[in-house]
Amino acid sequence: MPITDPEKKRIAQQARLVMKICFSCGVRNDIHATRCRKSKCRNPYLRLKNRNLGVKK
Ligand SMILES: [Zn+2]
Repeated sequence: MPITDPEKKRIAQQARLVMKICFSCGVRNDIHATRCRKSKCRNPYLRLKNRNLGVKK
């Protein structure tokens, strides 16, 4: 079922793309996270996953 509501689609894409990825283990973290959420990892080095795949402002 395709999403026709452009506003809902925008929110869904934001939620999927705006996150941080741990350099060490590659797990997805919250955009506001400062450290990896994995208890064994705790790596402070997180990269942004913030690609604009058809998301225009
Ligand atoms: Zn990690």
